Amino acid sequence: MQQVPLAILEKGRGTQLSVVGTRPIQLCSQCDAATLAKYHANRPNPLLPGEIPTAGL
Ligand SMILES: [Zn+2]
Repeated sequence: MQQVPLAILEKGRGTQLSVVGTRPIQLCSQCDAATLAKYHANRPNPLLPGEIPTAGL
């Protein structure tokens, strides 16, 4: 398992979402390999909830 930061989003004005914080989640290096690859490609930005099919909200 790897711990990665997941963005906490809040609706600002209009339809824009802004990142107001992060929380750590655990991803399996095998089952979530695609998600982890996406995270490592975008580091140090946190993952967005929409990028994690298994995380739920
Ligand atoms: Zn797994």
